[in-house]
Amino acid sequence: MKLAICPGSFDPVTCGHLNIIARAAAMFDKVIVVVMVNNNKHPLFTQDERVELLRRATADLPNVEVDAYGGMLAEYAREKNATVIVKGLRAMSDFEYEFQMALTNRKLNPSVETVFLTTNAEYMYLSSSLVKQVAELGGDIREFVPACIVKDILEKYGRNEET
Ligand code: ADP
Repeated sequence: MKLAICPGSFDPVTCGHLNIIARAAAMFDKVIVVVMVNNNKHPLFTQDERVELLRRATADLPNVEVDAYGGMLAEYAREKNATVIVKGLRAMSDFEYEFQMALTNRKLNPSVETVFLTTNAEYMYLSSSLVKQVAELGGDIREFVPACIVKDILEKYGRNEET
């Protein structure tokens, strides 16, 4: 069985993330989406909330599981016997960091291979931080995130309008 891992902070999951997850699910037998802790970021959603939002957003993908992990990705891959890490690439600016991470992860766990999927052109500009900025400023986020999580994001900013 070919198992792939899709790591990220997913604060919150966007349509860009979901597109990468769905494409990975079509390529591998099973995909584990793993919410990682990143101490450099101050998250809007707790790790448990991010897991819950991801579970809801991926409910129609039967071979996708969602998990959370506080340690190193290379270690998580070893624990799960996963041999592939799938990452999305939006622009050249993503590349340098992702390249460095991929090399580090392979050094820490030589049996793991990082695979990059190019973003769908429609989602090239999209990031979790952009969604949060638009939501905070009162804008419409419905094109950016799965419909089933819109309300949860608006509530974080004290907005509870009908969507
Ligand atoms: P960010 O906080 O930058 O939105 P994450 O750390 O949650 O992203 O990202 C998880 C993975 O999803 C990364 O591999 C990232 O490159 C990818 N990703 C994020 N947004 C998009 C997008 N719009 N299109 C394709 N891949 C994306």
